[in-house]
Amino acid sequence: RPGLYFVATPIGTARDITLRALDVLASTDVIAAEDTRSMRRLLEIHGVPLGDRPLISYHDHSGAGAREKLLGFLADGRSVAYASEAGTPLIADPGYHLSRAAAEAGHLVTSAPGPSAVATALTLAGLPTDAFFFAGFLPNAKSARRSALEAVRDVPGTLVFYESPKRVGAMLSDAAEVLGAGREAALCRELTKKFEEVLRGPLSELSSAAQERSFKGEIVVLIDRGRGEDSGEDDIEAALVTALETMSVRDASEA
Ligand code: SAM
Repeated sequence: RPGLYFVATPIGTARDITLRALDVLASTDVIAAEDTRSMRRLLEIHGVPLGDRPLISYHDHSGAGAREKLLGFLADGRSVAYASEAGTPLIADPGYHLSRAAAEAGHLVTSAPGPSAVATALTLAGLPTDAFFFAGFLPNAKSARRSALEAVRDVPGTLVFYESPKRVGAMLSDAAEVLGAGREAALCRELTKKFEEVLRGPLSELSSAAQERSFKGEIVVLIDRGRGEDSGEDDIEAALVTALETMSVRDASEA
């Protein structure tokens, strides 16, 4: 069926791909990928022949030309599969502009869903999942990173960040200062891979751990929502006032 098919690919273990994703990759007229070399490797591992189908490199910044080319295939009634380098396209990965343009042009936009580090990390972190806020990558510069953390401080849900191993130490220490050292958090590393690891604890503990050892590989940091007790000086003051008022009411009634 003509249309644009977003295909999720593994985040670490090659066999984490759905049967339908393989069917889509085997049957679309055109395959587009963020990284054509990774796509060739994936097709090879799973015995999906590319044949003489076009394999086109596309990311949202490859310019309007590449997007127009893919939209041209769709306009000709062809089916196009698109995969980013790993996991689900559009999730901290390219695909947004393509998705939007294809939908605006009236083409079918659909997906073969599958792995994503955000969903995998949420299942392992041991933090509430009833509501979560995916914040993607924080800015590199310290002051911008701290402002971004301030902006999500009071979000009523688990915060999820993608982070690089180089910056995770600085990120955790900023998060402890801005969000509160006592907030429960989890660091999920190398998910689905040989050295998969999940560390759980308050931000102060994770931040100290990151000063003591280096965390290598791919990382997701999750932070529990603020629960009032240490999410800022104003909250502490308000809690103290309430506590003192309660105590004096109790004292008076007990006297
Ligand atoms: N599209 C991908 C997805 O659906 O998760 C995310 C791509 S983004 C460019 C790459 C970031 O995702 C990594 O820097 C890391 O923060 C996170 N990530 C991807 N794979 C991971 C894994 N196996 N374990 C932990 N984090 C991972």
